[in-house]
Amino acid sequence: MKTIGLIGGMSWESTALYYQAINREMAARLGGLNSAKLLLASVNFAEVGSKQKAGEWDALATQLGELAKSLQTAGADCILICTNTMHKIAPHVAREVSVPLLHIATPTTTAIKAAGLHTVGLLGTQFTMSETFMHEHYADADVRCIVPDEHTQNEVHRIIFEELCQGIISDRSRAALVTACEALCAQGAQGIVLGCTELTLSVKPQHISQPLFDTTALHGLAAVDFALS
Ligand code: GLU
Repeated sequence: MKTIGLIGGMSWESTALYYQAINREMAARLGGLNSAKLLLASVNFAEVGSKQKAGEWDALATQLGELAKSLQTAGADCILICTNTMHKIAPHVAREVSVPLLHIATPTTTAIKAAGLHTVGLLGTQFTMSETFMHEHYADADVRCIVPDEHTQNEVHRIIFEELCQGIISDRSRAALVTACEALCAQGAQGIVLGCTELTLSVKPQHISQPLFDTTALHGLAAVDFALS
């Protein structure tokens, strides 16, 4: 079994989901007391969030690059950045290590294609929805992403940072997220990508009529696939 390296804490609420999903999958595949060999470098998200807000992406790239190197030195055979947003600086992190960086969009686009879909609605932080870094990865796999209007993007972003990243899960915000999903489906989305690793805390498959692609779960499964390959 290979060792999985996680860069987490963005937020820790979703990193906890990764830890659980990876270990549950490992136990399901290998049985008994089997669990994942895993290293976690977890940041203070208040510091990272402030830098995101201030646009200090070079500093964040340096910080995550250093963490990736430390995970590799400690024995990690692969690196996962446990957030969609921070994949904005994934190319820099990948260059800092010789082990593979497992990109969060790769297992997601694989699942979308396996479902026979080509157009999905993408929910995430404003960075993920409005900038090109994530859209490009989907486009490379021939998957088109459509995103909510600016007002809805603001609200989804607010729910992520002010609620989900702080462990607050409310029916009111779930209803707003589901409404955003339904609007995207009405515009032609054949499925919805939960393109923020905390969204799965709120929106579940039973809440929407179209297929749901949970980047947290899919990224975790990709780590298990790698560890057992
Ligand atoms: N976990 C979130 C994501 O997947 C948001 C936190 C962050 O800005 O990194 O994008």
